[in-house]
Amino acid sequence: MRMVLLGAPGSGKGTQGEKLVAHFGIPKISTGDALRAAVAAGTELGLKAKAAMDAGQLVDNAIVIGIVEERLNQPDARKGFILDGFPRNTAQAEVLDEMLQRLGQAPIDRAVHLAVDDEEIIRRLLDRAEKEGRADDKEDVIRHRIKVYNDETHPLLDYYAKQDKVRTVVGVGGLEEIFQRILEALK
Ligand code: ADP
Repeated sequence: MRMVLLGAPGSGKGTQGEKLVAHFGIPKISTGDALRAAVAAGTELGLKAKAAMDAGQLVDNAIVIGIVEERLNQPDARKGFILDGFPRNTAQAEVLDEMLQRLGQAPIDRAVHLAVDDEEIIRRLLDRAEKEGRADDKEDVIRHRIKVYNDETHPLLDYYAKQDKVRTVVGVGGLEEIFQRILEALK
């Protein structure tokens, strides 16, 4: 199973992604987690990414594409993977398709779209801000991340719909309930 998780920030990609990891026994590749780890470690890549992340902007395509390619090349990703937070714009999606071909891997099977409305998204992210204190969970930055999602990432639904790969799941309800919806949508 080669899967892309699509959905606004706070739509539950990370949480549902972990459940999918346990279910399918394949790794999850999260560019957000990888970038936060690079920032925390103070690597050169982290330094380059930090300003964009703090402002709720997208990090340069070249940086995130490099992260994904390195990870997809590792042996445990050969039988499948779950992408969380990548691709985030059409250019990244095109590079991903080309990359899988070049690495001799099968194409993406499914793009699972977790649909959650903007008000619920803002509520969840403000709540997470209080609990986790992530640098980009501040109200103005949250609003900007949602705008970037709507402008740049949402159009990917069209990209994958043209390939008949999109499955939309309502991302509101209990965690287990949503997970069962995803499994059902993947059948
Ligand atoms: P969320 O979806 O909750 O906003 P993520 O953890 O997926 O958060 O990403 C946090 C930040 O990391 C993004 O706002 C962006 O700055 C950067 N980022 C993550 N993935 C990508 C990507 N594929 N392309 C560009 N920037 C990215």
